[in-house]
Amino acid sequence: MPIFSSAASPAETETARLAALARYDILDTPPEPAFDRVARLVQMIFKVPTSAVSLIDAQRQWIKASCGMDVSEMPARDTFCSQTIRSDMPLVVQDLTQDSRFRDNPYVVGQLAIRFYAGMPIRTADGHNIGTVCAMDQSPRSFSDTEVQILRELAQIVMDELELRRLASTDGLTGLSTRRAFKEEGDRFVALARRHRTPLSAIAFDIDHFKHVNDTYGHAMGDLVLKSISAIALDTPRDSDLVGRLGGEEFAILLPGADLASALAVAEKLRRTIETSQFAGTEPPLCVTSSFGVTSLDPDIDDLTGLMVKADQALYRAKKNGRNCTVSWHEAS
Ligand code: GH3
Ligand code: MG
Ligand code: MG
Repeated sequence: MPIFSSAASPAETETARLAALARYDILDTPPEPAFDRVARLVQMIFKVPTSAVSLIDAQRQWIKASCGMDVSEMPARDTFCSQTIRSDMPLVVQDLTQDSRFRDNPYVVGQLAIRFYAGMPIRTADGHNIGTVCAMDQSPRSFSDTEVQILRELAQIVMDELELRRLASTDGLTGLSTRRAFKEEGDRFVALARRHRTPLSAIAFDIDHFKHVNDTYGHAMGDLVLKSISAIALDTPRDSDLVGRLGGEEFAILLPGADLASALAVAEKLRRTIETSQFAGTEPPLCVTSSFGVTSLDPDIDDLTGLMVKADQALYRAKKNGRNCTVSWHEAS
């Protein structure tokens, strides 16, 4: 028995894999041409009737792009692709009925009667298999080494595309969502809250007299303050909350499920943490404060823009009230 073991348990590995998948923010997004193209290439190159680009979370296999399939997701439990992501190798089964792992599989014995499967993991740079690119046929067939190589390249193209999307939605300095990404994701949050009649609150905040920080301590120190405050803002709310950098020193947080009172509490906590933060290496010691505006969604009236306008109006009032404070739109109006 080894004395030292650094291997992560399967549960830890799965948690890290799901976190990696969440990073790309791809599940339940609309079709996109780049992924549709990969599905079509798989179908054309391998001359198979069915192909898919799938992402696999804890329970389901969700299909980003496909050819010859009319479902958008299925329980991950029985799928060939969920088997594929357990290994870093491609999974190729020339005749599923001849393979003891799959001959009783519902996709083999059931109506779909799939006979051939070739799947390649979509693997992140840090080594998590988050999905697959696969080819399927209702007749058995062979699959050459060259074809395996082509499938590998196609899976890498999907990974590159996911990475590019992620980079485009992340602000380079702070790691927060860009304005565009905040808008896209925020629209989804608002649509969900309106449909399910669940609470949704928004916080807008802006660093006070930030121009003075730049003027006194230099732009590099200003950048460091922006980074530190962004890290604080990312740490304060729940994981499901969306934190964006909407402008130079202007930020916003969307809090699904939070009513006005809890959003006000989040804003106040953030305000105090920023106020009491030390920024190393400054002489005289640098103190920074921020002003906050908070509001809650009116599901009958507000879209994302309406919600953020209200949060901004409350923020404006906070600035007028002397800065370093939190104002609720509902009290300000
Ligand atoms: P107020 O309390 O009214 O918000 O005053 P303020 O000085 O914070 O507001 P103002 O909008 O006048 O100035 C914002 C400053 O933020 C000006 C701009 O140079 C600085 N800024 C914007 N983006 C960046 C950045 O990426 N890095 C640094 N260091 N400064 C930035
Ligand atoms: Mg400011
Ligand atoms: Mg500003």
